[in-house]
Amino acid sequence: MKPSLSSVEDALSEIRSLIEKHHSFVLLEHQKPDGDCVGSGLALVQALRNLGKQALLVSQDPHPAVYDFLPGREFHTRAQYIEPEDFRAEVAIFIDCTDPERAGKGLELASNSIWVNIDHHVSNTGFGDVSLVVPDAAATGEIIYKLLLAMGVPITKEIATCLFVAIATDTGGFRYQNTTQETFEIAGALTGYGAIPWEIAEHIFETRSVSSILLLGKALNTLKLSRGGKLATVSVTRDMMAQAGASPDETEGIIGYPRSISGVEVSLLFREMEDGSGFHVSFRSRSKVDVSKIAMRLGGGGHPRAAGALVKGNLEEASQKVLSVLDEFDIWMDS
Ligand code: 5GP
Ligand code: MN
Repeated sequence: MKPSLSSVEDALSEIRSLIEKHHSFVLLEHQKPDGDCVGSGLALVQALRNLGKQALLVSQDPHPAVYDFLPGREFHTRAQYIEPEDFRAEVAIFIDCTDPERAGKGLELASNSIWVNIDHHVSNTGFGDVSLVVPDAAATGEIIYKLLLAMGVPITKEIATCLFVAIATDTGGFRYQNTTQETFEIAGALTGYGAIPWEIAEHIFETRSVSSILLLGKALNTLKLSRGGKLATVSVTRDMMAQAGASPDETEGIIGYPRSISGVEVSLLFREMEDGSGFHVSFRSRSKVDVSKIAMRLGGGGHPRAAGALVKGNLEEASQKVLSVLDEFDIWMDS
């Protein structure tokens, strides 16, 4: 479903006038925020602050340490540090969230606010008083860029750096199928505003913690190929994370390895939840299978080539559940 140009323009101007009219804003990220969510949120919170607004970026879970180099962190906090009773924002802006519940504990801070939904997931439910969902955008960062242009706010070097990170991470370094001519045009413009691509790449793609490399080794040891070599599965348990000294966000990037195996169309990463109640399953596909549909059947969501869902049970039960849904989709037949 492609939103019409006018509906995008209408939503942009509605958001612009909401921002002009109101003074206090809370920006909500999704649970386990990724580079797009963090970069988009930090860019928008700085833009609002530069306009003299009161604005706070809030996430349930911490930002992955790789994004510590980004500017604007002083305007970010975690939901657990705020008492919802003492907090009031006139407008809540959901960033990169398919549905309000994705904000987790942050949702408690939005109960009396006007809701704005800015996202690029096909599985977005269209919630909110104003909804700006553009599935063709490679990253929410592209949409935030357009919003800032529509608002006429200056794009500083700091904002440009955050937006570049948003786009570079969700496109896998401008390599995934979501990368378009417009993606490069926006990235080029951001470079003009002061983003330095090689420095950003050095931080986000070329620097890893020892613990994440140790965890990668353990995860790759669990590799299983099935469905005639078209499905590759890896898993990460809490034990493995403890042994590697790694945090849950250090699983990011692992799933790219099984997908890169020749002949693999779909890869899965099972990551055990911190409370042991089940697994977060990441789905990636190479070029054909729409994994967002599979994730949605399991109560999750995402994009055609990258999606996720939470599945209860032990590893055996969770993988049985996921495999039975995958097999219903009849995706292993064509070559
Ligand atoms: P990842 O596998 O990297 O966690 O996520 C891949 C994509 O799927 C991201 O765009 C992410 O927002 C989305 N996603 C991951 N997990 C969930 C989930 O549990 N629910 C929903 N709705 N989307 C998810
Ligand atoms: Mn995104």
